[in-house]
Amino acid sequence: MRALVTGAAGFIGTQLVGHLLDSGWDVLGIDARDPAPTSRHLRLRRARIDLVAADPQSLDRLCEGVDVIFHLAGQTGVRSSWADGFARCSRDNIDATQRLLEAARRHPIGRFVFASSSSVYGTGARRRVSEADPVVPHSPYGVTKLAAELLCRAYAANFGVPTVSLRYFTVYGPGQRPDMSIHRMIRGALGHEPFHLYGDGSQSREFTFVTDVVRATALAATATLPGGAVINVSGGAAQSITDTIRLVEAAVGRPVPLVRGKAKPGDVQVISANLERARSLLGWQPRVPFALGLQSQVDAERALLARLETAPETRLVS
Ligand code: NAD
Repeated sequence: MRALVTGAAGFIGTQLVGHLLDSGWDVLGIDARDPAPTSRHLRLRRARIDLVAADPQSLDRLCEGVDVIFHLAGQTGVRSSWADGFARCSRDNIDATQRLLEAARRHPIGRFVFASSSSVYGTGARRRVSEADPVVPHSPYGVTKLAAELLCRAYAANFGVPTVSLRYFTVYGPGQRPDMSIHRMIRGALGHEPFHLYGDGSQSREFTFVTDVVRATALAATATLPGGAVINVSGGAAQSITDTIRLVEAAVGRPVPLVRGKAKPGDVQVISANLERARSLLGWQPRVPFALGLQSQVDAERALLARLETAPETRLVS
């Protein structure tokens, strides 16, 4: 099977590429930036391409002979999507998706898997949300992810592009993006920048371990699905931010220094998922318990910092 993975240099994309290669896929990974070279990815064919800047003929060529497109490229981050950040967010989430769908529609691909987000649900009564529940994003980021999801559904309905949108709930694990909360908590406990806690810490999330996300994403490539399907992908156990800090402290064995501030615009209070559709359509459910996943992220972070200490010219980004 031949895969095109966009966002291949990113947190989830890197691990998806590794999983597909290990499973015998032929993978072309593209990203607007260079991926970190690792020996595991020696068999990866890759190209540095900006999906919005590239001409349509180049995108066409990327889709030739491809069985499955995994579209993970995008601009992430709720807080950076306000004000001037919106232009970039809109470009990389909406325009990039539309251009890739145009290219995909001209090729007989088997599946177009889009990395959507729980941010499409917004705030309010957000416990055990189902895919059929109303979507009212609470941030510009969520609006752009919803727009991209709707584009996937429109291309499925009009042109038969076999799209599926996976609504990932906050993903964590080794390699997590430095702007994400668990990464910043761990770095804080390990003696870097204190963790900035916005709000009273009662806000809760369902964290999803990255290997569980990758497994769901790979299953979505070959499962029998209705065109334009939308599926929640979540770790299945809600944690408050305060509890998460305590668990990080237990995993690191040191306190997380805190700087407290007011809740930020766009932050959602409670979000948890109904996973019935993932179970029935993908045969998927999360496997990695939060405490175990957290410990593996802490161990990976410690190992990374130890390696960097032996290369003192390398600057650490907390
Ligand atoms: P990431 O920022 O690590 O990776 C995204 C990659 O996309 C980056 O390497 C970036 O260079 C690339 N990219 C952005 N715009 C591009 C463009 N125009 N052309 C080509 N490449 C481009 O993010 P991640 O955490 O790995 O997330 C991957 C996807 O999953 C994103 O679409 C994100 O919205 C979605 N998602 C992530 C989470 C999470 O918790 N990490 C939750 C919900 C949804």
